Amino acid sequence: MVTPSSRPSHGPPIEKGAIIKQGKGLARVALVYPNTYKTGMSNLGFQRVYHLINQEPGIACERVFLPDLRQKKDAVVSCESRLPLQRFDIILFSISFENDYIHLADILRQAGIPLRSSDRIHLHPLVAAGGVACFLNPEPIAPFMDFFLLGEAECLVNEFFSLFHQYPDRTDLLAILETNLPGAYVPARHPPFSKKISVRFLENLDHIQTHTCVLTSQTAFKDKFLVEILKGCPHGCRFCTAGFIYRPPRIYPKENILKAMDKASGNTRKIGLVSSAILDHPDIADICEYGTDHGFSLSFSSLRADKLDDPMIDLLHQSKVKTATIAPEAGSERMRRVINKKMTEPDIFLAVEKLVAKDILNLRLYFMIGLPFETDDDVRAIVNLTREIKERFLTVSRKQKRMGTITLSINAFIPKPATPFQWAALTDDATLKRRIGIIGQGLKKTPNVIVNLPSVKTAKISALLSLGDQNTADVIETACDHGWAYAFRHHKDDCRRIIYTPKPIPAVSGIADTDPCPALPSLPWDFLDSGISKKFLAAEWHRAAKEKQSPACPMIDCRRCRICINENAIK
Ligand code: SF4
Repeated sequence: MVTPSSRPSHGPPIEKGAIIKQGKGLARVALVYPNTYKTGMSNLGFQRVYHLINQEPGIACERVFLPDLRQKKDAVVSCESRLPLQRFDIILFSISFENDYIHLADILRQAGIPLRSSDRIHLHPLVAAGGVACFLNPEPIAPFMDFFLLGEAECLVNEFFSLFHQYPDRTDLLAILETNLPGAYVPARHPPFSKKISVRFLENLDHIQTHTCVLTSQTAFKDKFLVEILKGCPHGCRFCTAGFIYRPPRIYPKENILKAMDKASGNTRKIGLVSSAILDHPDIADICEYGTDHGFSLSFSSLRADKLDDPMIDLLHQSKVKTATIAPEAGSERMRRVINKKMTEPDIFLAVEKLVAKDILNLRLYFMIGLPFETDDDVRAIVNLTREIKERFLTVSRKQKRMGTITLSINAFIPKPATPFQWAALTDDATLKRRIGIIGQGLKKTPNVIVNLPSVKTAKISALLSLGDQNTADVIETACDHGWAYAFRHHKDDCRRIIYTPKPIPAVSGIADTDPCPALPSLPWDFLDSGISKKFLAAEWHRAAKEKQSPACPMIDCRRCRICINENAIK
């Protein structure tokens, strides 16, 4: 029996849409977001998986989050029934960010469940994971998992639970999983360098809607109803996974989006439109008009300055948007060519002037430092560009007789699998600290400019968890017991090898499209096939070295990265 509930509980606050399934013979799945309730419930992917698993017959899916520090001694329990984690049949971690791998270890430890798959017996729940962090590189947590489901949940959930019902004995299930379910990865049974695991992606989004499932005020977006409008991004910035792992970008049909927005009616007036490339949706103006005509206030995940035309800015103004986010990522035109960010200074200045003129008085600017081929001058260019933006901002604000704030988020570049920069190493500490200093000093005491600088320590942890292999599990376990500082000392050589060693890049010029990529020492995630060719990624690296930009993904009739003609890609 299913009873949608909005009851307060000792755990999470008031919710609309939580699914409580009761009845005999239900198999219990704990869907775990390895971070706090607030962070987990702000994640649309997590909400989507929760919804999908609860559509499965005979399965009750309940949510579990990282207990907060006050609950360190308490049992780890679910939101729906307060069932302790160790009492579930399956524990499925939904992981978007590799930095949450440490919390995964904390949660299993706190629930009294052995961390390593090899230490668990038939009395323990099956422990599995999925989510974008895993289908980029699952190896750092592979020794902890009985299996992974790699790819988009819509392709995997139903197929997996059909097998789960068919093979009630876990040993049998794990024995057949990889051969019977494309996208499944069973580390303990996957001989190294054997067949590739195909990461599963939906062919198109014609028959789905991705939107908030459980509405609650306790998220980063308060009680905002989130609607995803496009998956992926056509622009292909060379550091960004969204521009490569989700190729070609897929667009939700306008009808699906409007139907999703209708579900917010009567629950909230606030809608957040979600995508890495909001303004690339061909019907964005109609979608926004529909929203404002139905009395919703709209907000947008991020906006490309080079795509902000007057009608769009008018819509932002009508939607009472107060803060706009623009991501130049690099300060100099040279570096923007290197990372393939096709946004010029005139684009940025024009967007700033138009936004402020329309009363959108606060700006959030994203920049990255420590990128491949970067120099100190490129970082000084971030300071100069910000000062120039500030001048333009001031000039227009004075006419408005009101002043907003410019907030800079400076992030350290972390090399990511399945991107052209996957072969890069993390920039060494001294250089990163020097460049952080250039920005900190350069923008100190600049009125109305707030600068959030990155942490070198966090960058090292992120790089280790992004690029790691199965030995990294030892480091995570040590960090879980003794903290990161001790873990880095204890596993010094392994950490240095993974974080600071650039990998050889395949030379690809002059080799035919159909020829295989020259063999080189493999990367830990090379056994995954996400459809994008290694040769294409290497070619993009070499273009970056020559400061050459590449055209955006046209989404149709093209063979450039070969995804659209990749026979192996299983949908
Ligand atoms: S083959 Fe062309 S259209 Fe297809 S994903 Fe690659 S760049 Fe985009």
